[in-house]
Amino acid sequence: MRAQAEQKVGRTGYYGKYGGQFVPETLIAPLRELTAVFEEARSDPDFWKELRGYLEDYAGRPSPLYHARRLSEKMGGARIYLKREDLNHTGSHKINNTIGQALLARRMGKPRLIAETGAGMHGVAAATVAAMFGMECVVFMGTKDIERQSPNVYRMKMLGAEVRGVTSGSATLKDAMNEALRDWVATVDDTFYVIGSVAGPHPYPLMVKEFQKVIGEELHEQALAKIGKLPDLLIACVGGGSNAMGIFAHFLPMAEVAMRGVEAAGEGLETGHHSASITAGEPGVLHGSKTYLLQEPSGQIKEAHSIAAGLDYPGVGPEHSYLHDSGRVTYVSVTDAEAVAACFELARLEGILPAVESAHAIADAMRVAPDMTPDQVIVINLSGRGDKDLHTLRDYAPEKFGIVAGTSEER
Ligand SMILES: *Cc1c(COP(=O)(O)O)cnc(C)c1O
Repeated sequence: MRAQAEQKVGRTGYYGKYGGQFVPETLIAPLRELTAVFEEARSDPDFWKELRGYLEDYAGRPSPLYHARRLSEKMGGARIYLKREDLNHTGSHKINNTIGQALLARRMGKPRLIAETGAGMHGVAAATVAAMFGMECVVFMGTKDIERQSPNVYRMKMLGAEVRGVTSGSATLKDAMNEALRDWVATVDDTFYVIGSVAGPHPYPLMVKEFQKVIGEELHEQALAKIGKLPDLLIACVGGGSNAMGIFAHFLPMAEVAMRGVEAAGEGLETGHHSASITAGEPGVLHGSKTYLLQEPSGQIKEAHSIAAGLDYPGVGPEHSYLHDSGRVTYVSVTDAEAVAACFELARLEGILPAVESAHAIADAMRVAPDMTPDQVIVINLSGRGDKDLHTLRDYAPEKFGIVAGTSEER
């Protein structure tokens, strides 16, 4: 949904010139109410205690910090560690945020959750917490994503959620988010909109960061205990940017910790078929906030492309735009082909099938690790597991699965 009214929300709603609340009039009051409830919960120790309880007993936190020895050895440079968000309940970092937002929904007395989803991981995480808290759940999903992520569609349905197919635009994440915002305008009295990334109007980018920050907080303790020092470099893939913000946020004040955010270069930046909003986009307004995005000179939003449905988004969370301009975080991009190759490297060297989203961060680590030294430490945020991507990988690289091209025959 494009800007209809701009509401300046003061310093807390902006990251430099990015962020804000570019939403229809009807959403200004609900966003103000949500901000107040969030701020009140944020300063309530009982809220965090309850959230921590669910993160430990239900989501399985803390997620392990694993030394990928064979991958490190093969790269021949820095020691590479993986922060195992793939081992969380439901298979990604998304559950950290959905538990937090569902607790806020309960605090506000709203019995119905809506969510947008791309790869389906946020939809599954939202459907999961809705089931656990006894809430109704509707998930908006582009029909193109429904096709390429069908295992997650069945998971959501089994959890009791309604999956609403969205056919408009490119029928992917951007369009699902448009539909969810449209639904919310009409249902805001009894409905809580659970946004899946550090995107959208204030307070969502701040709120989602606060719920994902636990990744970096845990990592700090784990790094000191296991490695005896802070990581030298953090690497995370960036779709909307929540797993990246989750591992970065706590370390932002620590200048000795470098950070790289990895966007999807799709078929290559030069082809125009990519999702690299920061690397190849310009500031504009999308889904309620000002941020880097992919747009035509006319202001029309361009179609994004990535083999990773969770990165296939033409915008990015506004704080990443700010961190790019300030130079605190380096943003780079990795192609579909490089990400697929990284999936197989990790599978065969470490026995871990990564989500194709997370594989973008692995591919970047493989690029930079050889130029570093063994006393240096890279931590990759392994944002999710790869079971959902087996179909996609098989179609992209059938020969790797022993399938003869052009037939359904397996060798
Ligand atoms: C959703 C998702 C992403 C992308 O979302 P961010 O908000 O950028 O983290 C990355 N990896 C996995 C596994 C996901 O499910």
